Amino acid sequence: MYSAPEIERNWSLFLDLDGTLIDIVRSPNEIYMPEGLLDTLIRLRNALEGALAIVSGRPLHEIDRLLGPHKFSAGAEHGAVIRYPTGEVDRAKALKPPESWMEIIRERIREWPGASVEQKDYSIAIHYRLAPDAEDMVRDLARSVVGDDNKADLSVTTGKKVFEIRPKGVTKGRAVKLLTDAEPFRGRMPVFVGDDVTDEDGMRMARELGGIGLHVADAFGGEPALVRAWLKRAADLFE
Ligand SMILES: [Mg+2]
Repeated sequence: MYSAPEIERNWSLFLDLDGTLIDIVRSPNEIYMPEGLLDTLIRLRNALEGALAIVSGRPLHEIDRLLGPHKFSAGAEHGAVIRYPTGEVDRAKALKPPESWMEIIRERIREWPGASVEQKDYSIAIHYRLAPDAEDMVRDLARSVVGDDNKADLSVTTGKKVFEIRPKGVTKGRAVKLLTDAEPFRGRMPVFVGDDVTDEDGMRMARELGGIGLHVADAFGGEPALVRAWLKRAADLFE
């Protein structure tokens, strides 16, 4: 039996998107917003006096596209880009993967139909959900691109059907830390909810700051629908 504690009014919430609030589908581009989710997030954000942030691997403009017209406090690109409640945006000073790597990867993945490459500001993500047999090859490719250039500040991280070349030390924990220092997050208990490897940095930071990290698999049986129901329950209760 899985269980998450009920949301309390003195919490601040840090929520991952894909696989946490939104069901994972065939590819990141086919995603759709579940009915009622945006309404729930807005009501809950109000009840928590604004202390609700989206912390995702997606770029900020994609978070905004999905949650538009609302602009949430956010940690985008796994914490490399932070948007504070004031609207101010902070960008990590970190080494980005060189442009030439995109060319190499784009060329190579043609061999694996279904695999796709996504260029973000701070990272390169290679998705293979539609080319599951290519997993080992995609991993080797990502590692060899990083390894050959010996860029010690960049590393390959694993996610759900994705390998991503990202700056080391720039994590979702950074988003939790920076936002927790800002109003209205300051002084509240940070609670991070996520489903994937990069979320574990966010959970760890929330715990370090006296809060809670909830893994969708453990606390919600792996079901984003149960995360949404949990949020809605609190939004309804707090009204
Ligand atoms: Mg996720």
